[in-house]
Amino acid sequence: MGLTSCAGAAGARDSTASFLRTENADHVVALMGNPNVGKSTVFNALTGMAQHTGNWPGKTVAGASGTAEHGGTRFLLVDLPGTYSLVARSPEEEVARGFLLSGRADCAILVADATCLERNLNLALQVTEIMPRAVLCLNLMDEAQKKGVQIDCDALEQALGIPVIPCTAARGEGLDALLDAAAAVASGRRPTTPPPIRFPAALSDDQLSEERKQDLRTASYVLHAEEIANGVIRSPANAARDRKIDRILTSRRYGIPAMLLLLALVFFLTISGANLPSAWLSRVLFACTEPIRAALCWLHAPVWLQSMLIDGVWRVLATVVSVMLPPMAIFFPLFTLLEDVGYLPRVAFNLDHAFCKAHACGKQALTLCMGFGCNAVGVTGCRIIDSPRERLIAILTNSMVPCNGRFPTIISLLTIFFIGVSRAALPTMLLSSLGLTAVIVLGVAMTLVASRLLSATVLKGLPSSFALELPPYRRPQVGKVIVRSILDRTLFVLGRAISVAAPAGLLIWLLANWYIGGSSVLLSCAQALDPIGRALGLDGMILLAFLLGFPANEIVMPIVLMGYLSTGTLVELTGLPALGALLTVNGWSAATALCFIVFSLFHWPCSTTCLTIWRETGSLRWTAAAVILPTGIGMTLCFLLHLLLG
Ligand code: GDP
Repeated sequence: MGLTSCAGAAGARDSTASFLRTENADHVVALMGNPNVGKSTVFNALTGMAQHTGNWPGKTVAGASGTAEHGGTRFLLVDLPGTYSLVARSPEEEVARGFLLSGRADCAILVADATCLERNLNLALQVTEIMPRAVLCLNLMDEAQKKGVQIDCDALEQALGIPVIPCTAARGEGLDALLDAAAAVASGRRPTTPPPIRFPAALSDDQLSEERKQDLRTASYVLHAEEIANGVIRSPANAARDRKIDRILTSRRYGIPAMLLLLALVFFLTISGANLPSAWLSRVLFACTEPIRAALCWLHAPVWLQSMLIDGVWRVLATVVSVMLPPMAIFFPLFTLLEDVGYLPRVAFNLDHAFCKAHACGKQALTLCMGFGCNAVGVTGCRIIDSPRERLIAILTNSMVPCNGRFPTIISLLTIFFIGVSRAALPTMLLSSLGLTAVIVLGVAMTLVASRLLSATVLKGLPSSFALELPPYRRPQVGKVIVRSILDRTLFVLGRAISVAAPAGLLIWLLANWYIGGSSVLLSCAQALDPIGRALGLDGMILLAFLLGFPANEIVMPIVLMGYLSTGTLVELTGLPALGALLTVNGWSAATALCFIVFSLFHWPCSTTCLTIWRETGSLRWTAAAVILPTGIGMTLCFLLHLLLG
């Protein structure tokens, strides 16, 4: 496309000033737009970078910058957070408005959604008022065409007084012309003449409160946008199909059952799809043990070092990879597909009422969904919640939905103790997915209870209102979704799990092989913890495994097995019947499995999540609260369950 890009420029958040001067660009261009209009897609296509894209508003919570070169001109593109207006009510709006007012940008590119132009024009009018040197990128032209929306671009250009470039950023169409226009406007070669906004005379009334004046100003932009839209849109968008779908997916009666059914379907596909590759990966990785040992022998490594590297590090890594990778490689793309189609905001819409009742923010439903993949990602995602009080509630309760690392163990225990391993595969997998859905429902219910408790005590307050746009349903870009979800999410989470699992493996190996008074330190610690474990319906070894599993939840069950077998090394999971037999021999009953599942759902977040909570809140006190809250709930529930069932 005659466009060369330069990836790797500094990603930045609120620190644009320091590096803008050093980038040596001809023009600094601010990239702006409503949330969910394809701004990240435009940014990525122009800079060759890989900002996360997804079909729900509010995901671009941090800005980034990157460079692009076109026709001999070098641009520094600053991706500002998506906003609906610039009246500076939310932190995103403050960042966007502040950057425009700072005078650091030579030009603004305004990305707009051609399928719902009117709402986008509202922001366009506010931007051009502050920054007349602007270009309108009329994105999603392919979608507009499909919906029969025709826009008279010449008339729009005249009405706005800035160049209007039709684009389909997803296919890279129109981006050359966009940079041409940006260069012309930024250099002053192409003058722009945005129209003055007609504000009501009442604005000059000194008696009028500032709030009322703000309302009048906002209404003026809206009216002006409506006027322009009416003049340039040749046929109105046909949203009848979306309305029909929403009548089911967001209805009072069917919304939540449909959501649970979809969730169960995603779990079913994940469970049934992950079984075989998990077993295969485990076989291959554990089969590598001997060749690695032979190689270490050949290098004359001492026996203790061989054992430490193979039994300590390699086996833990093999377990983490084989248990985590297949479910993640299926779950994340499925989840990203739902996101790309536009379903996630509907989840927030369906749960909004419940979260409001808990005095929390409906957007918490979105951060909760992100937590399914990885709680650390969910915690970072809480930045989309504007109110600091509600953001803290969302952060403190995020780990109460199980992340991917906890799924496999929960599924195994449900299958062994509540469904039965002797059934045919399909009913077993179906029942397991329903069981997992029930566990998630418990997690969400407890999140609501905890949120209500927090807002009645340490985080007192009423829920704030927020506008959540239900974006149009879009056909997902399957190829892109798969590539992005594997690269951005699956490998990222796996990489992090591996980096913590390796040292954890070493520590476990040391504890299991360090003997004091005829018993390994691992066993002695388990014995010391036994009374507490028993009171919770568990045992000392399980409790120790949860403690040692702090770096990564997926190693909890392997540590339990290692302790029971006292092998001093992690054992390979050789099928559910063998696992069931081993657990039963060690005193497990259905009640133990239930307590284990409950404790797995409600205990301290893993180390990565704790670190993320600390970074996001900047407070050790709140990080401690995020540890104590779920752990307290888990211990209480397990204690009560043990009393009831024991
Ligand atoms: P942002 O929130 O403005 O950064 O929007 P994203 O770049 O994340 O895009 C939102 C959704 O629109 C994603 O699902 C994109 O794949 C999709 N999208 C972006 N541009 C286009 C386009 O030109 N055509 C179509 N069909 N989809 C697009």
